[in-house]
Amino acid sequence: MNDAGRHPCAIEAIDVRKYFDRGIVHALDGVALSVERGEFVAITGPSGSGKSTLLHLLAALDTPTSGTIRVDGEDLDRIKDLNRFRRTHIGLVFQLHNLLPHLDVAKNVQIPMFGTHRSHRERTERADVLLAEVDLEGKGRRLPTELSGGERQRVAIARALANDPSVVLADEPTGSLDSASVERVLGLFRRLRAETGMTLVMVTHDRDVARTADRIVEIRDGRVAADTSSSAA
Ligand code: ADP
Ligand code: MG
Repeated sequence: MNDAGRHPCAIEAIDVRKYFDRGIVHALDGVALSVERGEFVAITGPSGSGKSTLLHLLAALDTPTSGTIRVDGEDLDRIKDLNRFRRTHIGLVFQLHNLLPHLDVAKNVQIPMFGTHRSHRERTERADVLLAEVDLEGKGRRLPTELSGGERQRVAIARALANDPSVVLADEPTGSLDSASVERVLGLFRRLRAETGMTLVMVTHDRDVARTADRIVEIRDGRVAADTSSSAA
């Protein structure tokens, strides 16, 4: 596992800036954020405020213009094999599930396990366990198009969990779901957090969704404008 317990913070961002278009666009303009292990933080803020940019940087999908980001105590700047680090430490869930349409559900769940030491058999068994975990037992042979939107998002969550990440980053994971599916996905995250102790950072526009988090961080113009414990916490 990932040295659980050794580092107090799951995520640390220190004065993170991200500029685009030769410095004209300041998507992030000095963000400081630390997230404890096991914490559930909702990130809110108006469209264009920098939420997705921040999540991408935390996921090591892009690098900051300046500043420091640590995940599980590791400085992303110093990690040689970022793909490997991401695969083993971070689970990603996006608004649109990004499942590969020509692969069945079980294969989609296995994607992060390719390129790890797991054998074919271990991958297959793990995919079954994960699908059961998200209440999709027996649906592994279906194609993504044969599932509802809510079910597809649950497949994406199962996929994100494939390698037991300590940190799960989700960008508007409930953004295109009906309200019953939103409840189901939130319930699933709640259960998974209780079971695995994972850290969850979720970008959401939805106030009701944000209120289910321990903490709400509001981003405005590329900075943290408010950081409050949720009343529901
Ligand atoms: P949010 O997710 O809060 O809606 P984003 O993080 O996507 O906001 O975007 C923040 C700002 O950065 C916006 O002004 C957006 O246009 C700009 N931006 C994001 N990604 C890029 C990019 N790859 N190139 C240029 N500008 C970008
Ligand atoms: Mg966004």
